[in-house]
Amino acid sequence: MALEYRNLMEDIVLQNLETVMAAEGGCSCDACKSDVAAYALNHLGPHYVATRQGRLMVKLKSYELQSRADVVAAISEAAVMVARHPRHGRE
Ligand SMILES: [Zn+2]
Repeated sequence: MALEYRNLMEDIVLQNLETVMAAEGGCSCDACKSDVAAYALNHLGPHYVATRQGRLMVKLKSYELQSRADVVAAISEAAVMVARHPRHGRE
């Protein structure tokens, strides 16, 4: 059996990334999305679970309910920062 573990925080950030970035109105190219995701993930810290595929979705759902407000806040903060200082300069 292979080792099975996953950072649920990564799934939850990705699920909310586009909506929150759109609400902040900044650039949404892949470079900016990557920067926002990385910043938010560093800020939030990981939430690893060791589980098999079948049980993963159950854990993901319940953890998302608990953490969604924090995740949205961290993405918003990251989106504002990246919009002010995009890696590719402003157009
Ligand atoms: Zn961009």
